[in-house]
Amino acid sequence: MKTFEDMGLIAPLQRALKDEQYKTPTPIQAKAIPVAVSGRDVLGCAQTGTGKTAAFALPILNHLGQRNRKAVSQRPFVLVLAPTRELAIQISNSFSTYGKYLKLRQALVYGGVGQGNQVRAMNRGAHILIATPGRLLDLMNQGHIDLAQIERVVLDEADRMLDMGFLPDVKRILSRLPRSRQTFFFSATMPPSIVDLAKRMLTQPVYVQIQSNSVSVDKIEQKVLFLQRDEKHASLRSIVTADDADKVLVFTRTKRGADVVARKLDQSGIKTKAIHGNKSQNARQHALEAFRKHHVQVLVATDVAARGIDVDGITHVVNFDIPVDPESYVHRIGRTGRAGASGIAISFCTENERRELREIQKLLGSKVRLITDHSPASSGQRHRSSRPHAKGSTTPRSTSRGLSSGRSSTRSFTQASTASGKPKNKRKQRKGRNARQRVKQASK
Ligand code: AMP
Repeated sequence: MKTFEDMGLIAPLQRALKDEQYKTPTPIQAKAIPVAVSGRDVLGCAQTGTGKTAAFALPILNHLGQRNRKAVSQRPFVLVLAPTRELAIQISNSFSTYGKYLKLRQALVYGGVGQGNQVRAMNRGAHILIATPGRLLDLMNQGHIDLAQIERVVLDEADRMLDMGFLPDVKRILSRLPRSRQTFFFSATMPPSIVDLAKRMLTQPVYVQIQSNSVSVDKIEQKVLFLQRDEKHASLRSIVTADDADKVLVFTRTKRGADVVARKLDQSGIKTKAIHGNKSQNARQHALEAFRKHHVQVLVATDVAARGIDVDGITHVVNFDIPVDPESYVHRIGRTGRAGASGIAISFCTENERRELREIQKLLGSKVRLITDHSPASSGQRHRSSRPHAKGSTTPRSTSRGLSSGRSSTRSFTQASTASGKPKNKRKQRKGRNARQRVKQASK
């Protein structure tokens, strides 16, 4: 199965894919689309950046395009549930792109904005409803939406849905869906709670797993800068002002932190915007558009706000703070290196963040090595030369500043990696392997 033509998709979809210049299916598309077209349930373990939206959108559009029915007021045929507004909007854009030659209507329902337009769209009738759980339940309870006619359901980013506390809402929504339906269930990780939910929702699903390591992480040059907390801002500035830093996405742990980083960069003449949960939906969309169109060079985000950022051409992801949850690391850096492109991910690590960094290393295993760099970034030049310093090489670059005694415990991390990528220490090796096995077992 090599081309979209082989997958039996209807002509209007083939045309739209040609317009988008999609030549070959991504691995998840190659695996999921044929089984989905045949009507089977799909359990997909994959993150954004793998082409998973098309993996569910194309078979769904194929089905709707073949049936060619009129939309019915308040009763959609397809429901896509997403954890955040950004992701819902991104999915909606994808459905519009792939379905542009089909006469289908879709409605987008999410919180944080007035409900008037959403209610009107449902009253007019939509084939496809894309929604976040809270607002969907609201509108259902008010009698504006009825799920009795749903034939296809997608639960996207299920793990994030649970992290954000949507499980009770999702269960309530599920209880209102017809039993006879096709279900697509996607999650970047498969902890036991997700496996339970998947079992509840799916009937004899085909399991499609795209290893996060092999999707985005492999193509991304990953570096860790060990530094002091007060060196972070200067280091970031030097990364951003380097020649190759075209579009830089910066992650902070807190909303306040995002604002501070954005303000400091902006004050030093670098066009920057911040997005986080305290910003209005409009402000978030506006910032994303500005970033996408290159009106700002840097976007600073928190994890939740960054979910669903679909911006091509991000050259650098900078973890200003190491994420507490190691899975977030994979999500964050996956924003660069989208759809096969390469990218650079730089993580700032202070003494206090070593533990989190070790958890990340455990999750990624020895397959992917983090390139450590002991010197705080002091010039853009250094980062310009980072490309030839290829993935896999751990040779420390010559630095003008050695480690202060405060940073000497860096060794406990760097020792875990050797040039061959194998942990030296047997106990560490076993621990890492066990952690990876746990991730794998949970996904079975
Ligand atoms: P997703 O994982 O669905 O968020 O998709 C990530 C990016 O890959 C989006 O920018 C898509 O437009 C792009 N994409 C998806 N499928 C393909 C494909 N088969 N060929 C090229 N680009 C693709």
